[in-house]
Amino acid sequence: MSCCADRTCRALAVAATTALVAVAAAGCGAGDAGGGSADDGRVTVLATPAPLLDLVQRVGGGRVDAAAVGGLGGDAHAVELTPPQVAGLTDADLVVHVGGLSNSVDAAVALRDGAPVVDALAVDDGAVGSEDPHVWLDPLLMADVAADVADALATVDPDGADAYTAAAEDVREEMAVLEAEASAALAPCRGATLVVSHEAFGYLAGRHGLEQVGITGVDPHVEPTPARLRAVTEVVRAAGARTIFFDEVASPDVATALAEDLGVAVAALDPLEVAVEPDYATAMRANLAALRDGLVCDAA
Ligand SMILES: [Zn+2]
Repeated sequence: MSCCADRTCRALAVAATTALVAVAAAGCGAGDAGGGSADDGRVTVLATPAPLLDLVQRVGGGRVDAAAVGGLGGDAHAVELTPPQVAGLTDADLVVHVGGLSNSVDAAVALRDGAPVVDALAVDDGAVGSEDPHVWLDPLLMADVAADVADALATVDPDGADAYTAAAEDVREEMAVLEAEASAALAPCRGATLVVSHEAFGYLAGRHGLEQVGITGVDPHVEPTPARLRAVTEVVRAAGARTIFFDEVASPDVATALAEDLGVAVAALDPLEVAVEPDYATAMRANLAALRDGLVCDAA
C-alpha cells in the first residue's frame, strides 16, 4: 500500500528528504540506525513494530543483523525518525514494516527507491480490511509475512534462501498451532462484544466472530469524544459486556473510569506494540486467557 497519494504524506516525504540531505552534507553515516550491509557480511534489516523485528530474527537467524526502526521501546503508532535514522532506513538491505502505522516510517520507506521492502499490510487477506495495521496480532497473517520476509531475504542473500524458507515454514507451523488454540478457546464466545481501549484486535475479532468496539479507533492517540464515550457506554449496556480491555498504548485512565461508571471489570490485553515479552507465543496465549476470562462466553 503506498501512502503517498495525499498531500500530507508527500510533505512528510519531502521533509524526510530534506533531513536526509542535511545528514549527508554533515558527513554522517547510517550511524546508530544500523543501516547498510553489516561489516561482518550479514544482511542488515530494519523492522517495526517489535513483533515484526522478532519475526525477522526468527526467519533470518544468524545470517541477519536486524534492528528496530527508530529503536526499541517506543510506541509503534508514534515513531518519529531522526535524520540519522532516516538515513539508516534508506541504507538497510531490507526494511520490514506495516504501511499506514507511522507516517514518518512510510515517508522514509518511500525514499528507498525500489530497494527491498516488505509491507506486512500487503498480506492482509481481507479478513477485516486493509485499513487496520495490526497485522501482527493475527497468527495466520504473521505466517504469510514470514514467507514474504523469507522471499525478500533470499533476493538480498540467495545463499541463505533454503535456510530462510525452512525458518518461515517453522514459523507457519507455530502460528497454525496458535490459531488453532485461539479458535478452540474463543468458539464459545462467538457473537460476544469485545470492548477495547484501542482497536488493535480487529483481525482477531473478525476471525472469531467477536464484535470489537473501541474507545479510541485504530490510532490510540485520537482522544475519544464525549459522543464516542456515550456510544461505547450504550454498547456495553446493550451487549451486557462484563469487561473493558485496556492496553498500555491507549490511556488506561479512560478505560478504567468508564469501567467504574458502568460497574464492569477492566483487564489488560497486550497489543505487542512496544515490546514482545517474554515471546510472541506466550504473549498471545496470555491475551487469549484474558479474553476467555473477560468476554461473555457460553459455559464450557
Ligand atoms: Zn495500535
